[in-house]
Amino acid sequence: MSGNSSIVNSVLDQLSASGHKKVVYCNDPDTGLKAIIAIHDTTLGPALGGTRMWSYTTESEALEDVLRLSSAMTYKAAITGLNLGGGKAVIIGDSRKGKSEAMMRSYGRFIKNLNGEFITAEDVGTTTKDMEYIRMETSHVTGVPESLGGAGNPAPTTAKGVFLGIKACVKEVFGTDMLAGRSVVVQGIGNVGEHLVALLRAENVEVYISDINEERLQHVARTYKAKPIGADKIFGLDADIYAPCALGATVNDKTINKMKFAIIAGSANNQLADENKHGQLLLEKGILFAPDYLINAGGLISCYSELTGFGKKRTMQLTENIYNATRDVIKMSKTDNIPTIWAANRIAEKRIIDIKKIKSSF
Ligand code: NAD
Repeated sequence: MSGNSSIVNSVLDQLSASGHKKVVYCNDPDTGLKAIIAIHDTTLGPALGGTRMWSYTTESEALEDVLRLSSAMTYKAAITGLNLGGGKAVIIGDSRKGKSEAMMRSYGRFIKNLNGEFITAEDVGTTTKDMEYIRMETSHVTGVPESLGGAGNPAPTTAKGVFLGIKACVKEVFGTDMLAGRSVVVQGIGNVGEHLVALLRAENVEVYISDINEERLQHVARTYKAKPIGADKIFGLDADIYAPCALGATVNDKTINKMKFAIIAGSANNQLADENKHGQLLLEKGILFAPDYLINAGGLISCYSELTGFGKKRTMQLTENIYNATRDVIKMSKTDNIPTIWAANRIAEKRIIDIKKIKSSF
């Protein structure tokens, strides 16, 4: 009993520390489903966030990840002006061999039982096919294929937002948002990275690419006339912009020291290993950082459009706002001499506080 209560306390303490509203553990031995759904904040609307399937080595590692990712979703929705809260889910397991229709439908029933408080979408390790299975049990899912009335793969919209975030930063640093002649290194040329490379090359940007998937690297290099480089060459490269589109935490003590970039702007979530420390270090080094959750919000906008029935035109308008939103963040960062990530956090938190107040009137 005392052992159990100390575990419960430690999880609840973590929720209090991170400001989370609710965490739901989903366990279905029949299908092998082990999942954690985290709902961070629902002031602005239902919590929307992807479901990640990953081979976490411990349950506490999975909890830590889902807490971190769900609070970032709250900030992303808030700064983008969407009426959504922040949530995320993780399924513990190997997405290549541990998935089944029954598991996904079982997971869909857990989501159904939350009565719309949580809405999911695809993420690392899940696909539009998985969303189709979830949709068989609940309507609280987005990112289903276009053939089934959904918005389909959100990656092109995400890439467009990142591209506009890059333009807003280039305008700040170089005085014009013309990209021709600039150089960008894109780390990770998957779904988002490849679309970003296409947009950059269409504006005559010199593009370097890096990926652990050699076959993909060569394919993207040939298709877009981009220059492949090894992972060990990225951080010392003499390029204007670094666009992380693979993993989080690539901006850290080791890499910042080597950087000669003027700008960091990419799609990966949680790019700064330590938000406070590395945000400050980049400010001191004069490297302009585009807050990741702001410029990669295109995917969330695409999901929101699917939910609300907005058409492609409105989706694009909302995505185009990322340019001005990035300019606003940069302006606040300069005026108050604070890292851009702090400025973004302030803007997002202010919207949540303001809307909380209006909700208190009958
Ligand atoms: P993806 O899985 O399609 O692509 C990731 C690519 O990165 C793959 O090609 C992979 O081989 C490569 N990669 C993995 N480890 C690497 C490493 N160490 N070095 C170089 N390359 C490596 O994922 P995606 O959908 O393109 O998303 C990319 C990033 O953007 C992820 O961090 C994701 O969370 C984030 N993001 C994606 C979306 C979206 O709409 N897909 C939205 C918001 C944020």
